[in-house]
Amino acid sequence: MPSGRDITGGGRRGGTSSKKNAFCSFCRKSYRDVGPLVEGPGDVYICGDCIELCQSILDQERRRRGTTKQLFTKVPTPREIVAELDEYVIGQDHAKRVLAVAVYSHYKRLLADEEGSDVEIDKSNILLVGPTGSGKTLLARTLARTLNVPFAIGDATTLTEAGYVGEDVENLLLKLLHAADFDLEAAQRGVLYIDEIDKIGKTSQNVSITRDVSGEGVQQALLKMLEGTMANVPPQGGRKHPEQQYIQMDTTNILFICGGTFVGIDQIIGKRLGKRTIGFGQEAGLENTEDLAELLPNVTSDDILEFGLIPELVGRLPVQSALTPLNTEQLVRVLSEPRNALTKQYEKLFSMEDAELQFTPEALQEIARQAKDRETGARGLRSIIEGVMLEIMYDLPDQPAGHNYVITPEVVNGEDRLFGSQEDKKSA
Ligand code: ADP
Repeated sequence: MPSGRDITGGGRRGGTSSKKNAFCSFCRKSYRDVGPLVEGPGDVYICGDCIELCQSILDQERRRRGTTKQLFTKVPTPREIVAELDEYVIGQDHAKRVLAVAVYSHYKRLLADEEGSDVEIDKSNILLVGPTGSGKTLLARTLARTLNVPFAIGDATTLTEAGYVGEDVENLLLKLLHAADFDLEAAQRGVLYIDEIDKIGKTSQNVSITRDVSGEGVQQALLKMLEGTMANVPPQGGRKHPEQQYIQMDTTNILFICGGTFVGIDQIIGKRLGKRTIGFGQEAGLENTEDLAELLPNVTSDDILEFGLIPELVGRLPVQSALTPLNTEQLVRVLSEPRNALTKQYEKLFSMEDAELQFTPEALQEIARQAKDRETGARGLRSIIEGVMLEIMYDLPDQPAGHNYVITPEVVNGEDRLFGSQEDKKSA
């Protein structure tokens, strides 16, 4: 039988084949199903779909090389990263340094891969241990902004195995894809923060019938994702179902930062170090905070294992750092120092009304003290300050312009009002 090469190809290399029994060497579909096939030497054929796919793979690879180079020339040094983090995050110096070095190495690793280095640098996902409102999420978010890469936040407790109420692990990747405006290349180099990682795989946790939090399936999927896998992401979100088209997302170069409060880990650390501790939540107050601040930085993988996180997970989070609870003095700084500090935001709002706003140092102390009592770290600051400012913001637009308003501890405590009967409080 003569060659199946289409004569209409005019003798071109690799013309189309009209052999009725030919099939695509890539997807194995037959000529009858997929239409014309391009023929290569030695009975090799390829269909239109596979050609398009190949083209997109090549395009993607070209873009990938382009973006890595571009990204790398812009990756700041650890020192620069810490300087940028300092603009937004108060304290947590150890965590900042650990993050900066890990992130720097992470993006260096991408470059090494790119250049075909024979030494493969291991992926270094990060585990942040620390109480609520100490800045874990803030650090991860600020880091992503510093690096100019997409960033998304997920929660490990919402993850469930297919068939249960909740989210598939792939939905976390979808969030990253959303954050990257569906630029797959960018998303595959993004930062994904997964909160409440301490709640996963703890055998002692109670498991509800609709949520399979500690289920094998979730753990396995999560482990694979952390290690690096080609995940099938449903573009519409929600449950995966067989007819759906998936977006293939490679998680190898995504930087995973996992965070958790690990309530009680101070006791494990304390025991190991031979120190007696009063533990989380047993006795509120300064003593407890100082205990935590002293113990948490000593956290090791062994403590985390003893806490109950499964060894496979700990193994995939080789970089660890602890954040310490913020003390009152640090809470005061959170109120006034970061670039987008709460007091700065209110001052801006006032200036837009042609008024001036000031918080006295004592007022900041009082807000910080109240937040400290709530034991939700810096998280408490916002709701306290919003409570204080609500009435004032309500009345402000009705006040004559050009005044200077001062927030004192009495205003914070509701013993004094800026407007109305206390009109004389404002100084021109
Ligand atoms: P976590 O993830 O540790 O529970 P977050 O990072 O979400 O806490 O912090 C909650 C809010 O508190 C943040 O939006 C931020 O405004 C503030 N905050 C927390 N820690 C710090 C910090 N160390 N420096 C500045 N602001 C902080």
